[in-house]
Amino acid sequence: MEENKGLIKGRSVQKSNVMKVYIKRLLNNSLIKRCIEGYNAGIGSVFMLHRVGSPASRVLSGNRNMFVSPEFLEETISYLKSKGFSFISIDELYETLTRKKKFKKLISFTLDDGYLDNYVEAYPIFKAYNVPFTIYVTTSFIEGNTIPWWFALEDILNNSDLLELEDGNRISISTLAEKEHAFFKFREVLLTEGNPQKKFEQLFVNYKDSIDLQKYAKLFLNWQNIETMNNDPLVTIGAHTISHPVLKRLEGPAVTAEMNDANVILQQHLQKPVEHIAYPFGGHVEINKEVIEHAAAIGYKTGVTTLSGNVFMTHRNSLLSLPRIFMYEMDVPQKIEDAMFQNNFVTNRGKRIIKL
Ligand SMILES: [Zn+2]
Repeated sequence: MEENKGLIKGRSVQKSNVMKVYIKRLLNNSLIKRCIEGYNAGIGSVFMLHRVGSPASRVLSGNRNMFVSPEFLEETISYLKSKGFSFISIDELYETLTRKKKFKKLISFTLDDGYLDNYVEAYPIFKAYNVPFTIYVTTSFIEGNTIPWWFALEDILNNSDLLELEDGNRISISTLAEKEHAFFKFREVLLTEGNPQKKFEQLFVNYKDSIDLQKYAKLFLNWQNIETMNNDPLVTIGAHTISHPVLKRLEGPAVTAEMNDANVILQQHLQKPVEHIAYPFGGHVEINKEVIEHAAAIGYKTGVTTLSGNVFMTHRNSLLSLPRIFMYEMDVPQKIEDAMFQNNFVTNRGKRIIKL
């Protein structure tokens, strides 16, 4: 019985692999590619980035994914410019959607969390090409009073061969494969909690003394960096909550506090309204309609998710759940067009209007 099941499963895996190869072949046909692009492009794309720089050699893949090299960023901007794309701020995207101006080939760059490299590496490139961009800031990372657990977890995994958890459980992490596996496994566990930091501190209480909050705070912008960029019309500072929680798993008042208090703190520093937000983690598992309603009630004009897709005029009815295109390091800048038009078409199974 078990064997039979295995056989059937094996066949269906084979079938879906054949299907994938077939779809990939189809997507390599330039006429089909152009058709999908025409259907799936909408008015433009909001790019999602995190870090701009080169990862150190021991960075685990879960954190490595966040990096785009300065060279790739520059080449991609230059390539997209040569292809006739225009770069707009998130405010201009809002204006385009709400005033029903019909445009196409628009790109809005956004960077999440508020890393120092956004100022040191990315800002000079955006400035040189006159490209507007938005940084969504998690205020407690700037103030250094919350652990960005993905870095602390990586350090713990890299610095030991055996994990000793609070419940006495011991897990071997001597090989790179084991460390990679453990990173994603713990990530999954932490994201089942509203406050993953708290859960992290509980699970890794044995490592409490080795966690250097100041070390992690240095990876993030300081208020002076933020205020300097805030004075540049190219830069929009948006909110990314106080502590980077899983909003969907928090109670209503806590959801509002995370999004509202971040807004208040940012406004105090920037001396202007903060009207745009990015939801931490931002997918179906981490946000829902109630979260979006809280953001609307606070007064945010736009909200960006991590759902993959392009922006269409109909998104004027769902400004607080805009999809984005994940920008990662690719071997050639031309591949960004596959990420924009083809890849999400496949993952979304042909559905083009993506919202929560
Ligand atoms: Zn984030």
